[in-house]
Amino acid sequence: MQLQDILSEIEHIAKNTVKSEALAVDAQGKWPEDSIRELQQAGLGGLVVSEELGGHGQGLHAIARACEILGEYSGSVALCYGMHCVGSAVIGAKATEQQKEEFLKPIAQGKHLTTLALSEPGTGAHFYYPQTQLLALSDNEFLLNGSKSFVTNGSKADSYVVSTAGVDPEATRDEFSCLVLRNDTAGLEWGPDWKGLGMRGNSSRTLLLKDIKVPSHSLLGEVGDQLWYIFQVVAPYFLTAMSGTYLGIAQAAFNEARQHLIERSYSHSGTTLSQNSILQHRLGMLWAKIERTRQLLYHATREGDNGNPAAVLPILASKAEVAHCCVDVVNDAMTLMGGIAYSQQSRMDVLLRDARAAHVMGPTTDILYTWLGRGLLEQPILDS
Ligand SMILES: Cc1cc2nc3c(=O)[nH]c(=O)nc-3n(C[C@H](O)[C@H](O)[C@H](O)COP(=O)(O)OP(=O)(O)OC[C@H]3O[C@@H](n4cnc5c(N)ncnc54)[C@H](O)[C@@H]3O)c2cc1C
Repeated sequence: MQLQDILSEIEHIAKNTVKSEALAVDAQGKWPEDSIRELQQAGLGGLVVSEELGGHGQGLHAIARACEILGEYSGSVALCYGMHCVGSAVIGAKATEQQKEEFLKPIAQGKHLTTLALSEPGTGAHFYYPQTQLLALSDNEFLLNGSKSFVTNGSKADSYVVSTAGVDPEATRDEFSCLVLRNDTAGLEWGPDWKGLGMRGNSSRTLLLKDIKVPSHSLLGEVGDQLWYIFQVVAPYFLTAMSGTYLGIAQAAFNEARQHLIERSYSHSGTTLSQNSILQHRLGMLWAKIERTRQLLYHATREGDNGNPAAVLPILASKAEVAHCCVDVVNDAMTLMGGIAYSQQSRMDVLLRDARAAHVMGPTTDILYTWLGRGLLEQPILDS
């Protein structure tokens, strides 16, 4: 299937199921079951799984575009779907034959949902320094102890891509491991339901891992591959899914504001807001802000898909720029729409709350600009 056909299918689902589920997702903090299942049933679960395993073999650009379309209708659906795609990409990067059969083929068939569990309460925004301990009990088994925070799709997914400290007790903090944990693994303990200010359907819950036994074939890649995973797979895919999502939220706010300017007419003058030159000018500025950010993201993801090593910088910049674009555009759109938009459960209420997660979702905006600066100065990106 060509990317354009895939995106048309996503748009069809977004304009129907996602749109009709979105209000309940926000109002009730409901995980978007209908939307996610429909995306899976339409064969879109395997967006980034290789064609040889039944997927679409797409990459960063497709994730950005898919999340952007979904984000225009529901930030939570975009992020839940995006995190599934990111998890799939991480599993697929160096999957063993067993992992292909157990995870990737069912993902492509729409029978398996996965997600990322990287953040921890102790290290917060520095999710690349996990403290969850992985101890080898034997050649075939590990013991896992720790906790993960903000796991999007938490308790809903069939598997979790979990980062841990290195297996070797002498491992430095840069030498961590990644493994894929099945949801039926004995002993997984979930924290309370997610009650976010926005992104309320995410089910971004805490996962407690206490003396969990996992088979050693759950390990992703080889010991020592981990920084490769972070910079080649986790960061580009994770950043792209978030960039697409928050760009979609910005676009949704723009659409709301534009429609308001067209429809709002005054009884005293018979004019509409769309005839006011200041408001015309402000709408033009919002469009330009979204469009230049979109072009940065599309350029970054195309270069990433082409394997250009220099793509890392625009990929880092994209998420930081999208976060600013999203928060600014939603804020300004709220102003353009006046008091009418300033009511609970209005579309702008949801967009305003959803947008605010853009800066705080790791890698956070401040950390991304620091990484970008280090990259430009040819310094190591992570703290020494
Ligand atoms: C809606 C939502 C969904 C999420 N989904 C997932 C998920 O699916 N998987 C997952 O693994 N995680 C997820 N997260 C977690 C997220 O990615 C962050 O790791 C988490 O929000 C960090 O929160 P914290 O409160 O611990 O931040 P803190 O670490 O306390 O940071 C607070 C602030 O300090 C700043 N800061 C900290 N250190 C530095 C520094 N060195 N330089 C500059 N600024 C710094 C940060 O940028 C941030 O603004 C999600 C979070 C949210 C809100």
